[in-house]
Amino acid sequence: MTADAPLADGAVSSLGDRFGAPAAAPATSAITLYARGASAGFDRKVADALALLRDAGRRFSPITQASSLGVEDMVVTDLLQKSGIDASIFVLDTRKLHAETVALIGRLEAHYGRTVDVYTPDLAVAAAFVAENGEDAMYRSLGLRKACCDFRKMVPLERALAGKQAWITGLRREQSNARAEVHDIELQRIDGHDGASATRAKVNPLAGWTWGDVWHYVDLHGVPYSPLHDRFFPSIGCEPCTRAVTLGEDFRSGRWWWEQESAKECGLHVSQDAGADGDGAALEAPGFESLPGAVSSLADRPASHAAPVRPITVSTVPESSE
Ligand code: SF4
Repeated sequence: MTADAPLADGAVSSLGDRFGAPAAAPATSAITLYARGASAGFDRKVADALALLRDAGRRFSPITQASSLGVEDMVVTDLLQKSGIDASIFVLDTRKLHAETVALIGRLEAHYGRTVDVYTPDLAVAAAFVAENGEDAMYRSLGLRKACCDFRKMVPLERALAGKQAWITGLRREQSNARAEVHDIELQRIDGHDGASATRAKVNPLAGWTWGDVWHYVDLHGVPYSPLHDRFFPSIGCEPCTRAVTLGEDFRSGRWWWEQESAKECGLHVSQDAGADGDGAALEAPGFESLPGAVSSLADRPASHAAPVRPITVSTVPESSE
């Protein structure tokens, strides 16, 4: 496939041949800046992450990784490879990604010798939205921004996760206040656009990792990563909605920077504490039963992975780990 070849509406395809080799690394790389900052428990965290993935691979099938192609997700892909579990990897190509991000799909495929599934939005819906609201609609109101995230991310994600028992993300508690409660494994009830509900496990092997841990791992294992990280983009999303940050700014401050902090999720990982909003009772029994064996088997996990399995619910289908 060539770089400008249009994908069919909602297509799933490999973009491995879409772009060429990465640009040369700049004089100051993210590895130089961050890789020395691993925490004291780094080796234990790596071992725990691998054990968590292997355990999830035994418990849940099919299982898939949602990759934004940010550095955390690249580390998760590397851990997946080392774990040996049978998990697919998918990317949501919103058609608004940086060229560097799209190019990384091909680099990942070449590095690991495997195929990435790419999900796109409905191109007719995208064209109609742009015709009505313009290319810069996301800056004009929160409603328009969320509408854009909905058809470019949420709807494709719903397709990517259809039929999956679990998905793996690169979420870390350190990333933002909104992610401070991320657990190793969470069980979600998903209310889809079609009105149907499902329960799915979300596996977060880097939940307790620091930014320094992530980059130390990249350095140790030669993990490919986006050159945007070398240009001070700690969090990578769509091009119109992501900017570089300066020293001292929060990890997520480069995302939707014109919005209030509390609005800064696109819905993929937005959750509510099931016990706090009255939905907990609905989740505790019937929701879990739709994953046969999941709850009881999770309770049997090794002591090092006996983190509480947290029930959460989402208003619609969840987000990739960007
Ligand atoms: S992050 Fe920005 S460009 Fe991407 S889907 Fe959301 S609003 Fe649209």
